[in-house]
Amino acid sequence: MTQKPTESSWEKVGERAYVLTLPAFKANIGLVIGDERAVVIDTGAGPGEAETIHAAIREVTDLPLVVVNTHAHADHYFGNAYFAAHGVKDVWAHSAAAEAMESAGEKQRPLVADSEPAMAAADGSWTELRLPNKTVADEPVDLDLGGYTVTLFHLGRGHTSGDLLVGSGNVLFAGDLVEEGAHPEFEDSYPYEWRKTLGKIIAIDELYSVVVPGHGRVVDPDYVRSQLNNLRQAIRMCNTAIHEASVDYTKAVPVLPYGPTQSRHLILRLKATETTADQILPH
Ligand SMILES: [Zn+2]
Repeated sequence: MTQKPTESSWEKVGERAYVLTLPAFKANIGLVIGDERAVVIDTGAGPGEAETIHAAIREVTDLPLVVVNTHAHADHYFGNAYFAAHGVKDVWAHSAAAEAMESAGEKQRPLVADSEPAMAAADGSWTELRLPNKTVADEPVDLDLGGYTVTLFHLGRGHTSGDLLVGSGNVLFAGDLVEEGAHPEFEDSYPYEWRKTLGKIIAIDELYSVVVPGHGRVVDPDYVRSQLNNLRQAIRMCNTAIHEASVDYTKAVPVLPYGPTQSRHLILRLKATETTADQILPH
């Protein structure tokens, strides 16, 4: 069922930047309003959420919209088709995210069965997968919104292979690279690289003093620092367990600073993505 949005649905987080937190999984939708265009950051888990988001946007601006997807997880881009059907021509994502949406998007449908049954069944209006038509790779892209510019950039792999960040003034929309109120999700992650990517977010805290996570409350660079410290500690503990051949590495799960599911995924992904350099570098 679509919830009736109100103007107060949006939290103002910067000069022209707003956040709408959806009830399901506390997913954060970003909105930055220029003089001629506005950018929507993530589109929800299907046409139901997208309709809620779109209606909330139309209460605060009637400017043409551009969409940015922070990464290739269903709850962040399954609403794209709704926006495309309502006038959006350009959908931006990192090139690796666009590839992942194309190759694995259909397989993600069951994930939204509870909140978006039509999307899960691929049955109904705006339930097709609308893939990004504009991509960002290593070079940042400035999006001109008319009188105001936001920057789309990638700092390395982390939560997924194609995490895209959006900088707007002193506000950084970080997607699921940063999580508040829930454990980070490691299923498609590159944990060693995630550590470096979080380090880079902290290194630019002079630029970005406000960080909008993919889910949960808006945070600051100190929060990102504590997430990085947790990840460093978890990787150290896992490495010890993994490399002590006599020890069943799953024994590390209860002592990690995450829930059991996230911890298992972390261990699996550490094993799947480690390189020699990761083993010999002091962490
Ligand atoms: Zn995600």
